Amino acid sequence: MAEGRRLLVAGNWKMNGTRAMVAEFAAGLEAVSGVHLVVVPPSIYLADMALAFEDSSIGFGAQDVHTQTSGAFTGDIAAQMVADIGAQWTIVGHSERRAYHSETDEVVADKLLAALEAGLEPMVCLGESLVQREAGEAEATVGRQLRRIAERVGAAKLSQAVIAYEPIWAIGTGVTATPEQADDMHRVIRDVLDELGVPSGSTTVLYGGSVNADNAADIFAGENIDGALVGGASLKSDSFMAIARALAAAKHA
Ligand code: PEP
Repeated sequence: MAEGRRLLVAGNWKMNGTRAMVAEFAAGLEAVSGVHLVVVPPSIYLADMALAFEDSSIGFGAQDVHTQTSGAFTGDIAAQMVADIGAQWTIVGHSERRAYHSETDEVVADKLLAALEAGLEPMVCLGESLVQREAGEAEATVGRQLRRIAERVGAAKLSQAVIAYEPIWAIGTGVTATPEQADDMHRVIRDVLDELGVPSGSTTVLYGGSVNADNAADIFAGENIDGALVGGASLKSDSFMAIARALAAAKHA
């Protein structure tokens, strides 16, 4: 399970991809020393990923899991199923799930527990909207999300999760947080984690929001940033690899 603070680049394909793309990634991705790589395709391709990445150090996972282990939840996927297929990871609480599927911090917390129970590593997404940032509420928003999740799962479980700071205004917009804004928010997250009894020095905290091969190095310069959750730029194996290499270079991995 959680191995402390790690360098990590995860690629969230969202509702994009094909079986051919899985094969193309299996051929195009290679290990980057010191950096964990995780591919997160639509769940329908997880079985293809399991075959294609069978002997690979590159991990893969789901974009979401249900809170329950089984039952009458048409269209949903349990964390156990994701683990059963051979995946190691799942995202929980992505802002698109929060927005389009009305996921609250409480639901996100329950998904985090379901993921851990199944032996998956959860990447938990937090982030403020543009309105909240412009109102000067970015820090309070992210702190509130983290505290609500911690209240439900407890510090010991939260310490097993990877945290992804993803300002909603930067996701898929081409607008990234400045390196200073990103590092500041990561420091805030680390302060809140420490306050909650989750050792931030051993928690991996990623930035997400329009990271690409051109801006990755600047973002990774932030000392509080351990890597990225990447959307659009993860859809091409060469840009995904370039981001991973930028992380290794920035952290001298
Ligand atoms: C994401 O979906 O988590 C994300 C960060 O997307 P993008 O990189 O496209 O902004």
